[in-house]
Amino acid sequence: MQSKVIDAFIRVAGRDGVLLTPEDLAVYSYDGTFAEGVPEVVVLPRSTAQVVGVVEIAAENRLPVIARGMGSGLAAGSIPCRAGGVVVCFTRMNRIIEIDEANSTVRAEAGVVTADLQAEVEKRGMFYPPDPSSIRHSTIGGNIACNAGGPRCLKYGVTGNYVLGLEVVLADGRVLNTGGKPIKDVTGYNLTGLFTSSEGTLGLITGALLRLVARPRFAKTALAEFDRLEDASRAVNAVLGEGIVPASLELMDRTAIGCIEEAMHLGLDTGVEAALIVETDGADEGTVAREVESAGRICREIGARTVKVARTEEERAELWRARRSISPALARKAPNKLGEDITVPRSAIPEVVRRLREISARHGLPIVIFGHAGDGNLHPNILFDKRKPGEWERVGRMVGEIFAAALAVGGTLSGEHGVGVLKRPWFERALGPVSVEVQRRIKQALDPLNILNPGKMFEDEV
Ligand SMILES: Cc1cc2nc3c(=O)[nH]c(=O)nc-3n(C[C@H](O)[C@H](O)[C@H](O)COP(=O)(O)OP(=O)(O)OC[C@H]3O[C@@H](n4cnc5c(N)ncnc54)[C@H](O)[C@@H]3O)c2cc1C
Repeated sequence: MQSKVIDAFIRVAGRDGVLLTPEDLAVYSYDGTFAEGVPEVVVLPRSTAQVVGVVEIAAENRLPVIARGMGSGLAAGSIPCRAGGVVVCFTRMNRIIEIDEANSTVRAEAGVVTADLQAEVEKRGMFYPPDPSSIRHSTIGGNIACNAGGPRCLKYGVTGNYVLGLEVVLADGRVLNTGGKPIKDVTGYNLTGLFTSSEGTLGLITGALLRLVARPRFAKTALAEFDRLEDASRAVNAVLGEGIVPASLELMDRTAIGCIEEAMHLGLDTGVEAALIVETDGADEGTVAREVESAGRICREIGARTVKVARTEEERAELWRARRSISPALARKAPNKLGEDITVPRSAIPEVVRRLREISARHGLPIVIFGHAGDGNLHPNILFDKRKPGEWERVGRMVGEIFAAALAVGGTLSGEHGVGVLKRPWFERALGPVSVEVQRRIKQALDPLNILNPGKMFEDEV
């Protein structure tokens, strides 16, 4: 990159806001995947005005601009994939600007860590429900750009359900404000929705107005263990069919349970084929308890071998410790893992699990299955050793077959992680040519020079 361009970035963001050394650039060359790509320069803006300045320089010099939160993404979305470019990292734009208790909203800059925002609003008795497992190492901007979800999304919805408005720097440097505090707003196209889950390809999100709800005061959690995965899946539908909407309904398959037990010794039954964690929550203790008891009864009627309702807060924390320890537990089983996040109609979960097991057996690599059964969002994790010749290539083939299995039952490629680079080859197969063509036109309209996160989502340049 020419030194006059670097100087221009320094004039905008200050010397300490521009990183150039190979050591610094290396830190911004990866995310939560195996992909890597080194930027030419990293800018850490402190204000929307600085973001505008950076984008204007990039547009003038036709430089790729890659937005980055905390780089926890699982689709290689925040990694430069064309040579170089400027990474705009939002971690210094981390102020909570306003908590409006009367209207139950919070206005925050894009780089606020999601867990920090949650903690801050909870001090005021309010609640920001989206709960990606990466809540402590991802940002509000990254969550919006990927429309992040988590266990609680069954009852409360995903990030996009809480975005009331956005401040976005467009590819030509103009600042677009969308939405506002009114809950209902049908004045024009839903631009807030368009930028939510756009993965940094349509604009740089600099701030957001988010909706809050009242904090649920009580929660009850149960673990149901099943001899047959089909029964666990039927139980999910039966619980929801009864009108109970648990905050979370999490599924773990036999391999996941085995991995957790081996690592944590929590006393889980490793002889069962599947387990469900069911959590109800709300404002009334009696209702919350009755709902978890009813969910437990339904699980038993459908064939659960055991149902254990956590009696104390410690027991409840223990159940969640089991669920949250899956990822670290897998690290003890194999040096590498690759996790996908296909989403299928709930009724298709047993069929997809059967197909995933076939894929695993055919390629000789374990696939551990867990996920948010209530939303049909599964995380099949392939365990492997990248150093062993041929294993990485096998993993690539397995991923393709996993996507094909999801699509075959009417599912989709990703419920949470987005397309990024990794799912690009399947994008058109998942959506069809008309949808991709419409999306390309939106991209061309908003970013005619294709400088915003080029090479993401679309298979070739647009
Ligand atoms: C251990 C682990 C657990 C995870 N669990 C979950 C989970 O439960 N649910 C879930 O949904 N995801 C999960 N993820 C994936 C990841 O954390 C989410 O996608 C998260 O939303 C990314 O946030 P980030 O700030 O790290 O963004 P980054 O990884 O930095 O960026 C992700 C994408 O968003 C774009 N982007 C970032 N900031 C902006 C901005 N301000 N404006 C425009 N575009 C922007 C980037 O260009 C990129 O395309 C997990 C990841 C890990 C490593």
